[in-house]
Amino acid sequence: MPPAPIRVLLVDDDEDDHILTRGLLSSVHGARYLVDQVGTWDEGLERMAKGEHDIYLLDYRLGPRSGIELLTEARARGCRGPAIILTGLADRDLDMEAMTAGASDYLVKGRTDAMLLERSIRYAIERARTLQALERQSAELARSNAELEQFASIVSHDLRSPLQVISGYVELLQLRYRGRLDDRADEIIDKALKGVERLDALITDLLAFARLEAESRPRVPVDLAAACEVAVADLRPLIDQTGAVVTCEPMPTVVANEVQIGQVFRNLIGNALKFRGSESPRVQVGAVEANGVVTVRVSDNGPGILPRHQERIFKMFQRVPGMEGVPGTGIGLAICKKIVERHDGQIWVESDPGRGSTFAFQLPKG
Ligand code: ADP
Repeated sequence: MPPAPIRVLLVDDDEDDHILTRGLLSSVHGARYLVDQVGTWDEGLERMAKGEHDIYLLDYRLGPRSGIELLTEARARGCRGPAIILTGLADRDLDMEAMTAGASDYLVKGRTDAMLLERSIRYAIERARTLQALERQSAELARSNAELEQFASIVSHDLRSPLQVISGYVELLQLRYRGRLDDRADEIIDKALKGVERLDALITDLLAFARLEAESRPRVPVDLAAACEVAVADLRPLIDQTGAVVTCEPMPTVVANEVQIGQVFRNLIGNALKFRGSESPRVQVGAVEANGVVTVRVSDNGPGILPRHQERIFKMFQRVPGMEGVPGTGIGLAICKKIVERHDGQIWVESDPGRGSTFAFQLPKG
């Protein structure tokens, strides 16, 4: 089957130029063009708004207005197709202006031959197709993320109700029968309660993870030192309980989602307090700024992490073996990673096992 013809709308108020461009198109080898031509800005806008063409060739000068204005107006009216600006003279400013307005290319009349025109049209159409496919994919991704969040929300709600019933009955069992049956029974009841608590923590963390995507709070200047201090205040009971010393150094400001950055500090400092060695935890939080990127470091004097675990701990449910006694769901670092990546940053750990860990994350200054 021969390839479908390419539908071209040519908007040019100069009859000679019409003839010239048509001539070039008809001499292109292999491709067939169906050319509609209009001679005024208003007619051009009317036809472009209909979206019936594969490509728009727009003259730069259209009476008192320009082809770039026409493209801008047509875009505002929903015209999505690719456009090429045709101009009488080469000019870098005009080039920039055309690209900013969303033109795929600009060609200088009189210096354009059939091959150049054909190639420019082919590239413009291909690029528009790729862009449209990308847009479709990202819309699909947004939809599936929203579905996932809804699913997580429903599941967590639905799971939580029977869990509350179970937890209520096990607590009742404990209240009424602790010490009345035998030691084994007490142990079983304790284990059942722990299981319920763990499931509850898992549901809460899973939901927090799923909801990150839908979180659309505006990005604002966030003073990292202040966000760190808030996290420290939230963790005060655990800090007092472990005799920890947490130091927040002065840090720069980044443009970010304040709630999410607070969550990252809470998770990282919380981990530094949880995963501790025999000494009281000493946690130091500081940041440096270079070339528009801020690198934050949270260092501790805990047990450290062996190199083979350093990458996988950022995945969901991944915990280092031997740490089972420490409460947790294995979701905290996955949440940190997702937040940092949503801010176009990255997160990693540096550790000297036995001497502590440093969790570092980088964020653009914004
Ligand atoms: P959780 O804290 O619920 O276990 P995380 O995703 O926050 O889950 O952490 C994953 C694992 O990484 C932890 O279980 C622990 O083994 C290891 N880890 C995290 N932070 C530290 C730390 N500061 N020191 C040592 N190990 C850590």
